[in-house]
Amino acid sequence: MAMQDMREPVESGCPDPFQYMHPTMRKNFGMWKYHEHPRPGVLLHVAYGGDKIWTVRAGTQRILDVYTLRKLCEIGDELAEGYVHFTLRSNIEYMVTDEAKVQPLIDALEGAGFIVGGTQNSVTMISHTQGWLHCDIPGTDASGVVKSMMDELIDEFRNANMPNRVHLTTSCCQINCGGQGDIAINVQHTKPPKINHDLVANVCERPSVVARCPVAAIRPAMVNGKPSLEVDEKKCICCGACFPPCPPMQINDAEHSKLAIWVGGNHSNARGKPSFQKLVAAGIPNNPPRWPEATAIVKRILQAYKEGARDWERINEWIERIGWPRFFEAVELPFTKYHIDNWRGARKSLNSSTYIRF
Ligand code: SF4
Ligand code: SF4
Repeated sequence: MAMQDMREPVESGCPDPFQYMHPTMRKNFGMWKYHEHPRPGVLLHVAYGGDKIWTVRAGTQRILDVYTLRKLCEIGDELAEGYVHFTLRSNIEYMVTDEAKVQPLIDALEGAGFIVGGTQNSVTMISHTQGWLHCDIPGTDASGVVKSMMDELIDEFRNANMPNRVHLTTSCCQINCGGQGDIAINVQHTKPPKINHDLVANVCERPSVVARCPVAAIRPAMVNGKPSLEVDEKKCICCGACFPPCPPMQINDAEHSKLAIWVGGNHSNARGKPSFQKLVAAGIPNNPPRWPEATAIVKRILQAYKEGARDWERINEWIERIGWPRFFEAVELPFTKYHIDNWRGARKSLNSSTYIRF
């Protein structure tokens, strides 16, 4: 019997990016000599062979309706060269090989209500998740926080007036997306989950919920004759990790789910090691629709950084130089007992380097 042909593999994940790249970028991949920043929102890359390409960056709200997307594509077809690129932080970028096309493109984008900026030493778009739309565990609407904050930081996006680039991140739960940022605005649960014992047996796979808890605070239990779970509230660190596999362990709460602000996170690169975020403000009201309390603190941190940092210092480098006591003074935030990380399990369980431990 003839062997059957093997089926084609199902490709998933990122598609090959080269097929979507501007031809000048494809041609010069790995061959760039230098790049410049002619004005906020515009980058110029020059290749060893002499090719030049200008990139114009505009902010978007990440969740784009089809009409906005069409508008952005029309602008790209008419005034750029038909290629766009979305950055990790939801900025859209257009590439043109003729300098004369840059200004008309900026005018068209601004005329249609988009903001050009977000390059070099500016506050670029906040990287965020939109859990309210697609996820099962959000404790706040991160996109709403982003919209409210960027409305207030629009001039910092448009101009490049910061000592160095500022990356902001938000997350709508406490355990997953959110990432590292110079300033991160994250949900903070302050109470252990409330268990609906009537539902646990039907909805939750109890061993996987027990295994999920990072501090072993969950135990199987029989409640009112039904198999359920119980939480040792003294151990619980209110992380919310049990809520996704077991929705009857409700942790989101209008009053007790708060926002917290962390600063100084930075990924490693060729020149430096990673730096970890540190908590600077906790228990901030999760206050839609404009989140004024969280926005005010972010603005204070940015203002102090702008006034106090040396040129090209990132937020973590600035704080390292001046020290945490002066940082707290400069941003007018109280230092409380909640800022001290005294969890004794941390040394063993939190990886703080890329070394593998056993
Ligand atoms: S931050 Fe949490 S809630 Fe938001 S999308 Fe990511 S996993 Fe879901
Ligand atoms: S909230 Fe976190 S620490 Fe508390 S019981 Fe759930 S998984 Fe464990």
